[in-house]
Amino acid sequence: MYMKSNLLKFGEPNAKLKKMLKELKLKLKTFTLPAGWSCPAAKDCLSRANRETGKIQDGPDTEFRCFAASAEATYPSLRKMVWRNFGLLKDALVDGVDACADLICASLPDKFDIMRVHVGGDYFSKKYLQAWIEVAKRNPEKIFYSYSKSLHFFKEFALPDNLVLTASRGGKFDELIDLHGWKEALVVYSEQEAIDKGLEIDHDDTHAAFGKDNFALLIHGTQPAGSMASKALQLIKKANKNVTANA
Ligand code: SF4
Repeated sequence: MYMKSNLLKFGEPNAKLKKMLKELKLKLKTFTLPAGWSCPAAKDCLSRANRETGKIQDGPDTEFRCFAASAEATYPSLRKMVWRNFGLLKDALVDGVDACADLICASLPDKFDIMRVHVGGDYFSKKYLQAWIEVAKRNPEKIFYSYSKSLHFFKEFALPDNLVLTASRGGKFDELIDLHGWKEALVVYSEQEAIDKGLEIDHDDTHAAFGKDNFALLIHGTQPAGSMASKALQLIKKANKNVTANA
């Protein structure tokens, strides 16, 4: 029996997602886990906010800092929520995939059409992924979508149509993206880079939730000082300022 005190917590869409929803007239909710700590396949993006202090630590191969980890570093209440969710899921998984799916289903918000599974965090184990597959099967009228680098888990399962995967390049298992022909998202450092690569930039998650083709994500967030990502971000901000100034 679940009580409010042992249910997972879900979040509201940010400004960019709200834009998509307004146009589509759909209700979206989000789910988040501790960034980096629940991402077994993160590589280029790996960053973690310390659970207690919020201090960010980048991984050995970090090229661009995880946006969700930066948010956790800033907001203690967000850290508390994501670690609580993580703990509840791991406890449920001790009793198996169905127990974890039961917990997620019991916790789902009353009203939503689309769920972004993991604004921060990722599928941290095979059984956890299986639990979300089960959740999607039990809720065929809803759409669940995710960016993921945990591709070594995905390769083993046929996904229901309403669990939409976007493979996120820059992880430990990139070779599986081409092997399986999965739709992928690539982080780019400029609009020109996206054009050169023949990719549309997704500004509002529509490509992730509904698209069939590969797409680009423009670098954002807070980037490690002196890194390529940080320099690219400065250029993007400068270009946007000029556009605003000229508008
Ligand atoms: S996989 Fe996603 S959530 Fe995890 S560290 Fe990388 S960008 Fe952040």
